[in-house]
Amino acid sequence: MTDAAAGTTRLLVVEDDREVGPLLVRLFRGAGYETDLAVDGQAGLHRALTRRYDALILDRGLPAIEGLDLLARLRRSGVTVPALVLTALGTVSDRVAGLDGGAEDYLVKPFEVDELLARVRVMLRRRSASSELLAVGREQFDLVTRTVTGPDGTVVALSGRESDLLRLLARHPARAFSREEIIAEVFPDASSVTLADTYVHYLRRKLGTGVVSTVRGVGYRLGRDRGAPA
Ligand code: CA
Repeated sequence: MTDAAAGTTRLLVVEDDREVGPLLVRLFRGAGYETDLAVDGQAGLHRALTRRYDALILDRGLPAIEGLDLLARLRRSGVTVPALVLTALGTVSDRVAGLDGGAEDYLVKPFEVDELLARVRVMLRRRSASSELLAVGREQFDLVTRTVTGPDGTVVALSGRESDLLRLLARHPARAFSREEIIAEVFPDASSVTLADTYVHYLRRKLGTGVVSTVRGVGYRLGRDRGAPA
Protein backbone atom coordinates (compact mmCIF):
# COMPACT_ATOMS: atom_id res chain seq x y z
CA MET A 1 0.00 0.00 0.00
CA THR A 2 1.10 3.55 -0.61
CA ASP A 3 -0.09 6.60 1.26
CA ALA A 4 -0.85 8.40 -1.99
CA ALA A 5 -4.54 9.00 -1.45
CA ALA A 6 -4.69 11.19 -4.53
CA GLY A 7 -4.27 8.14 -6.71
CA THR A 8 -2.27 4.99 -6.94
CA THR A 9 0.31 4.60 -9.66
CA ARG A 10 -0.31 1.34 -11.46
CA LEU A 11 2.26 -0.56 -13.44
CA LEU A 12 1.87 -3.60 -15.65
CA VAL A 13 4.86 -5.91 -16.02
CA VAL A 14 4.71 -8.29 -18.99
CA GLU A 15 7.49 -10.80 -18.54
CA ASP A 16 7.47 -14.56 -19.11
CA ASP A 17 10.67 -15.35 -17.22
CA ARG A 18 9.61 -17.19 -14.04
CA GLU A 19 12.29 -15.52 -11.97
CA VAL A 20 12.55 -12.06 -13.52
CA GLY A 21 8.78 -11.41 -13.61
CA PRO A 22 8.08 -11.91 -9.88
CA LEU A 23 11.36 -10.14 -9.07
CA LEU A 24 10.24 -7.05 -11.00
CA VAL A 25 6.85 -7.12 -9.33
CA ARG A 26 8.50 -7.20 -5.88
CA LEU A 27 10.84 -4.41 -6.91
CA PHE A 28 8.04 -2.11 -8.11
CA ARG A 29 5.72 -2.92 -5.22
CA GLY A 30 8.60 -2.19 -2.86
CA ALA A 31 8.93 1.19 -4.57
CA GLY A 32 5.26 1.93 -3.84
CA TYR A 33 3.66 1.10 -7.19
CA GLU A 34 0.62 -1.10 -7.49
CA THR A 35 1.91 -3.71 -9.92
CA ASP A 36 0.31 -6.45 -12.00
CA LEU A 37 2.16 -9.23 -13.80
CA ALA A 38 1.21 -10.85 -17.10
CA VAL A 39 3.29 -13.84 -18.17
CA ASP A 40 2.65 -13.83 -21.92
CA GLY A 41 1.85 -11.34 -24.64
CA GLN A 42 -1.80 -12.29 -24.97
CA ALA A 43 -2.47 -11.85 -21.26
CA GLY A 44 -0.51 -8.59 -21.28
CA LEU A 45 -2.48 -7.22 -24.20
CA HIS A 46 -5.77 -8.15 -22.57
CA ARG A 47 -4.81 -6.49 -19.29
CA ALA A 48 -3.50 -3.34 -20.93
CA LEU A 49 -6.67 -3.01 -22.98
CA THR A 50 -9.01 -3.56 -20.07
CA ARG A 51 -7.34 -1.80 -17.13
CA ARG A 52 -5.86 1.65 -16.75
CA TYR A 53 -2.11 1.65 -16.17
CA ASP A 54 0.32 4.52 -15.76
CA ALA A 55 3.21 2.65 -17.36
CA LEU A 56 4.07 -0.72 -18.90
CA ILE A 57 7.30 -2.64 -18.45
CA LEU A 58 7.42 -4.98 -21.40
CA ASP A 59 9.76 -7.85 -22.08
CA ARG A 60 10.45 -8.08 -25.78
CA GLY A 61 10.78 -11.83 -26.12
CA LEU A 62 7.36 -13.12 -25.03
CA PRO A 63 5.27 -16.17 -25.85
CA ALA A 64 1.98 -15.71 -27.74
CA ILE A 65 2.58 -12.07 -28.77
CA GLU A 66 6.06 -10.57 -28.99
CA GLY A 67 6.59 -7.39 -26.94
CA LEU A 68 6.83 -4.88 -29.77
CA ASP A 69 3.88 -6.48 -31.54
CA LEU A 70 1.88 -6.17 -28.32
CA LEU A 71 2.83 -2.51 -28.11
CA ALA A 72 1.89 -1.86 -31.74
CA ARG A 73 -1.54 -3.42 -31.14
CA LEU A 74 -2.05 -1.22 -28.08
CA ARG A 75 -1.11 1.92 -30.02
CA ARG A 76 -3.45 0.98 -32.85
CA SER A 77 -6.20 0.65 -30.25
CA GLY A 78 -5.47 4.18 -29.06
CA VAL A 79 -3.82 3.15 -25.78
CA THR A 80 -1.10 5.73 -25.12
CA VAL A 81 0.26 4.39 -21.83
CA PRO A 82 4.05 4.82 -21.83
CA ALA A 83 6.08 1.64 -22.17
CA LEU A 84 9.62 0.70 -21.28
CA VAL A 85 10.84 -2.28 -23.29
CA LEU A 86 13.25 -4.76 -21.71
CA THR A 87 15.29 -6.90 -23.98
CA ALA A 88 18.36 -9.04 -24.25
CA LEU A 89 18.98 -7.59 -27.70
CA GLY A 90 21.30 -4.60 -27.64
CA THR A 91 22.12 -3.69 -31.19
CA VAL A 92 21.39 -0.27 -32.64
CA SER A 93 18.77 -1.60 -35.04
CA ASP A 94 16.90 -3.32 -32.21
CA ARG A 95 17.03 -0.13 -30.21
CA VAL A 96 15.60 1.91 -33.05
CA ALA A 97 12.95 -0.75 -33.67
CA GLY A 98 11.85 -0.51 -30.05
CA LEU A 99 11.58 3.25 -30.04
CA ASP A 100 10.03 3.35 -33.49
CA GLY A 101 7.52 0.76 -32.30
CA GLY A 102 6.05 3.22 -29.81
CA ALA A 103 8.17 2.52 -26.74
CA GLU A 104 9.17 5.50 -24.62
CA ASP A 105 12.33 3.88 -23.42
CA TYR A 106 14.42 0.82 -23.83
CA LEU A 107 16.63 -1.06 -21.38
CA VAL A 108 18.98 -3.90 -22.25
CA LYS A 109 19.24 -6.92 -19.96
CA PRO A 110 21.01 -7.32 -17.65
CA PHE A 111 20.24 -3.93 -16.12
CA GLU A 112 20.71 -2.30 -12.74
CA VAL A 113 17.47 -2.15 -10.75
CA ASP A 114 18.23 1.43 -9.73
CA GLU A 115 18.43 2.44 -13.37
CA LEU A 116 15.17 0.65 -14.14
CA LEU A 117 13.42 2.48 -11.29
CA ALA A 118 14.89 5.80 -12.42
CA ARG A 119 13.71 5.28 -16.00
CA VAL A 120 10.23 4.40 -14.80
CA ARG A 121 10.13 7.56 -12.69
CA VAL A 122 11.07 9.61 -15.75
CA MET A 123 8.29 8.02 -17.79
CA LEU A 124 5.75 8.68 -15.06
CA ARG A 125 6.88 12.29 -14.66
CA ARG A 126 6.49 12.90 -18.36
CA ARG A 127 3.07 11.34 -18.18
CA SER A 128 1.88 13.51 -15.32
CA ALA A 129 3.28 16.80 -16.61
CA SER A 130 0.55 19.39 -16.39
CA SER A 131 -1.69 19.45 -19.42
CA GLU A 132 -0.46 21.79 -22.08
CA LEU A 133 -1.56 22.37 -25.64
CA LEU A 134 0.79 23.75 -28.24
CA ALA A 135 -0.15 24.93 -31.71
CA VAL A 136 1.47 23.18 -34.64
CA GLY A 137 0.02 25.23 -37.45
CA ARG A 138 -3.70 24.50 -37.40
CA GLU A 139 -3.18 21.38 -35.33
CA GLN A 140 -3.23 21.02 -31.55
CA PHE A 141 -0.42 19.15 -29.85
CA ASP A 142 -1.35 17.77 -26.42
CA LEU A 143 1.81 17.24 -24.38
CA VAL A 144 0.17 14.93 -21.88
CA THR A 145 -1.54 12.50 -24.21
CA ARG A 146 1.22 13.05 -26.81
CA THR A 147 -1.33 13.38 -29.57
CA VAL A 148 -1.69 15.81 -32.44
CA THR A 149 -5.27 16.61 -33.37
CA GLY A 150 -6.03 18.08 -36.77
CA PRO A 151 -8.77 20.63 -37.56
CA ASP A 152 -10.88 17.75 -38.87
CA GLY A 153 -10.49 15.84 -35.59
CA THR A 154 -8.01 13.22 -36.77
CA VAL A 155 -5.64 12.18 -34.02
CA VAL A 156 -2.04 11.05 -34.45
CA ALA A 157 -0.23 9.50 -31.47
CA LEU A 158 3.47 10.23 -30.96
CA SER A 159 6.08 8.27 -29.06
CA GLY A 160 7.71 9.89 -26.05
CA ARG A 161 10.77 10.96 -27.98
CA GLU A 162 8.86 12.19 -31.01
CA SER A 163 6.77 14.20 -28.59
CA ASP A 164 9.85 15.62 -26.85
CA LEU A 165 11.26 16.79 -30.18
CA LEU A 166 8.00 18.33 -31.37
CA ARG A 167 7.59 20.07 -28.00
CA LEU A 168 11.00 21.69 -28.33
CA LEU A 169 10.25 22.96 -31.85
CA ALA A 170 6.67 24.01 -31.11
CA ARG A 171 7.62 25.99 -28.01
CA HIS A 172 10.00 28.08 -30.13
CA PRO A 173 8.25 28.20 -33.50
CA ALA A 174 10.38 31.02 -34.91
CA ARG A 175 13.70 29.50 -33.95
CA ALA A 176 15.85 27.05 -35.86
CA PHE A 177 17.70 24.45 -33.80
CA SER A 178 20.95 22.80 -34.79
CA ARG A 179 21.18 19.04 -34.56
CA GLU A 180 23.57 19.45 -31.64
CA GLU A 181 21.04 21.62 -29.79
CA ILE A 182 18.29 19.09 -30.44
CA ILE A 183 20.46 16.27 -29.14
CA ALA A 184 21.38 18.27 -26.02
CA GLU A 185 17.75 19.19 -25.33
CA VAL A 186 15.89 16.05 -26.33
CA PHE A 187 18.22 13.06 -26.62
CA PRO A 188 21.07 13.63 -24.15
CA ASP A 189 21.88 9.91 -24.16
CA ALA A 190 22.27 9.74 -27.95
CA SER A 191 25.61 8.55 -29.31
CA SER A 192 25.28 10.46 -32.60
CA VAL A 193 23.66 13.70 -33.82
CA THR A 194 22.01 11.69 -36.60
CA LEU A 195 19.37 10.66 -34.06
CA ALA A 196 17.97 14.18 -34.52
CA ASP A 197 17.56 13.48 -38.26
CA THR A 198 15.96 10.13 -37.48
CA TYR A 199 13.30 11.69 -35.27
CA VAL A 200 12.63 14.54 -37.71
CA HIS A 201 12.03 11.78 -40.24
CA TYR A 202 9.62 10.03 -37.86
CA LEU A 203 7.68 13.24 -37.25
CA ARG A 204 7.42 13.97 -40.98
CA ARG A 205 6.27 10.43 -41.64
CA LYS A 206 3.51 10.70 -39.04
CA LEU A 207 2.46 14.33 -39.49
CA GLY A 208 3.43 15.19 -43.06
CA THR A 209 6.69 16.49 -44.49
CA GLY A 210 5.75 20.10 -43.74
CA VAL A 211 5.68 19.66 -39.96
CA VAL A 212 9.42 20.32 -39.66
CA SER A 213 11.36 22.61 -42.00
CA THR A 214 15.00 22.06 -42.84
CA VAL A 215 16.92 25.32 -42.44
CA ARG A 216 19.95 24.97 -44.65
CA GLY A 217 23.22 25.27 -42.80
CA VAL A 218 21.44 25.55 -39.46
CA GLY A 219 19.17 22.64 -38.70
CA TYR A 220 15.44 22.34 -38.14
CA ARG A 221 12.50 24.42 -37.02
CA LEU A 222 8.75 24.03 -36.79
CA GLY A 223 7.49 24.13 -40.33
CA ARG A 224 3.72 24.31 -40.49
CA ASP A 225 2.14 27.05 -42.60
CA ARG A 226 5.36 28.71 -43.62
CA GLY A 227 4.84 28.00 -47.27
CA ALA A 228 8.29 26.48 -47.42
CA PRO A 229 8.91 24.14 -50.34
CA ALA A 230 9.27 20.50 -49.32
CA1 CA B 1 11.28 -13.35 -22.26
